[in-house]
Amino acid sequence: MAITATHSAAETGTPGSASPSFGPAVALSCRECGERYPLGPVFACEQCFGPLEVAYEFSGVTRESIAAGPRSIWRYAGLLPVPADVAAKPNLAPGLTKLVRADNLARELGMRALHVKDDSGNPTHSFKDRVVAIALEAARTFGFTTLSCSSTGNLAGAVGAAAARAGLRACVFIPTGLEPGKVVMAAVYGGQLIAIDGSYDDVNRFCSELIGDPAGEGWGFVNVNLRPYYAEGSKTLAYEIAEQLDWRLPDQLVIPIASGSQLTKVDKGLRELIALGLVEEKPYKIFGAQATGCSPVATAYKAGREVIQPVKPDTIAKSLAIGNPADAPYVLDIARRTGGAVEDVSDPEIVDAIKLLARTEGIFAETAGGVTLGVLRKLLAAGTLDPDAETVVLNTGDGLKTLDAVGAGVTATIKPSLDAFLEAGLVR
Ligand SMILES: *Cc1c(COP(=O)(O)O)cnc(C)c1O
Ligand SMILES: [Zn+2]
Repeated sequence: MAITATHSAAETGTPGSASPSFGPAVALSCRECGERYPLGPVFACEQCFGPLEVAYEFSGVTRESIAAGPRSIWRYAGLLPVPADVAAKPNLAPGLTKLVRADNLARELGMRALHVKDDSGNPTHSFKDRVVAIALEAARTFGFTTLSCSSTGNLAGAVGAAAARAGLRACVFIPTGLEPGKVVMAAVYGGQLIAIDGSYDDVNRFCSELIGDPAGEGWGFVNVNLRPYYAEGSKTLAYEIAEQLDWRLPDQLVIPIASGSQLTKVDKGLRELIALGLVEEKPYKIFGAQATGCSPVATAYKAGREVIQPVKPDTIAKSLAIGNPADAPYVLDIARRTGGAVEDVSDPEIVDAIKLLARTEGIFAETAGGVTLGVLRKLLAAGTLDPDAETVVLNTGDGLKTLDAVGAGVTATIKPSLDAFLEAGLVR
């Protein structure tokens, strides 16, 4: 099961040995059986096929050292599997997006303290720039020459842009039927963009096949053979939220679920902050959000099950349309352990929530942001979410990429004259 790059990195050593290329990371460890592996382009345990994740030995990270760092995710380089000089390398330097105090929205919802973590402000307008930035560093270290991925839309653009900046070749795979905005975003950076006639889950299976074939030699798939590194990028959301709240943890977080990686790693990031003493320990609840048209995790949560039943997605929230999410068992565990929940909302509820956020806070979210806010609303109404507790809801993408999902247009079309304006009865 171990797959190595053509130019296997000299930096990779035995488990537990540090390497300057990976900063504080010391090994990969199996999430299921705990078996340790050297840091390499591998993603599944040879013993039990469980997913591998990065293990660390942190040292010397303080609030002050972070505050003195770059204004990007690289201020947390000491908590990530990247070299200390990562900020000096050509990459998109994503992150440090706004945490917007959403008082208008809170008032409308009857909440006391609500914040929107707005990741539409990233270089390619979605949260995916965070995860790709970490995977890119690993790709460089392992000597990969092509950066690739299977994408539900946003990842394709993030990989294309990161590869362009880094001078790597890009070849990314998407399912047919994605939003035009996402297709153009993925194509404009000059790499190859291949549409596969099938669902995201079909694309993902295809990529696994390509990795096992000689044709895939030298290819770094950010979310397959580089997945352990890629996944760590989502921890930066947790770090930023805590730092932007003056080193305090929120009480409740509402996070979207596609593969479930983001939600799982936000929890890992929050636990690291507590373990390192960077924030005061306190309980927090994590709520997962899905679209009803692709809600295998919410369904399993409500049924009290620990495993999901894969589904065939049918929803406008295409960026979250993964019918067989790899991290589902961990998401279910985190929602239950923290006292959160997993809920889903219909396509009309998603559109309603997009419009509500735009109307109250001037933030135009993509459909995934409609999913999180829609779920927040639904859980408030059900009494599952506490309106008096400090809450952070994630907007992970930009509404400009999913324009067709939202029916909005001009108020009126008139002739270019004052008379016409007055006659149209538009003066209030
Ligand atoms: C990819 C993506 C997510 C979350 O993906 P995970 O696979 O669960 O980590 C959330 N929002 C948007 C907009 C995305 O593109
Ligand atoms: Zn294992």
